[in-house]
Amino acid sequence: MASSEGADGASIIEPLVIDPVCFARDGSSVTGKLLQSGMPRLKDLLASRDGAVSYAVEGCMSAKGQPTLRVSLTTDLAVRCQRCLEELRFHVDTRREIVLLPRTTDADPTEGEDDDIDFMPGTSALDLHDLVEQEVVLSLPMAPRHAEGACHLQPGASNTGERSSPFSKLAALKKETH
Ligand SMILES: [Zn+2]
Repeated sequence: MASSEGADGASIIEPLVIDPVCFARDGSSVTGKLLQSGMPRLKDLLASRDGAVSYAVEGCMSAKGQPTLRVSLTTDLAVRCQRCLEELRFHVDTRREIVLLPRTTDADPTEGEDDDIDFMPGTSALDLHDLVEQEVVLSLPMAPRHAEGACHLQPGASNTGERSSPFSKLAALKKETH
């Protein structure tokens, strides 16, 4: 499959700066779509950046009365399989709540910790587009791999030889003997 990644720097994403506490108090919301090619932090993490990220950010007050941002996003990411170094595509559909802490607080932010809830120090200016990019980075798996049997591992794949580890070479040899 041909991949046609845009030239670097072709489409840098403009910041979308909000006052997060006001945004939450007002119950504001914003949705949009950003190109992966405009996200510099994805450059070294993805095999290709030809997709778009659909996002929604919703402001609300939590049950405890804390200003909160609900961030959800969907996208398809193309990473590199750690075993065969070929492209591996997967779908991301995440949702996270970010509680905005007061600028001066003695409260323990880890109290009542929940995997889907994050805390962020109070700030009067937050770039939502940067936040979305950060969420995409957080959604990346640590060691992506094709499912067993779906991997394109090929013995002596010369095009990726320089990046293959001793382990992938060993795995290739093992597979060859079958
Ligand atoms: Zn693979």
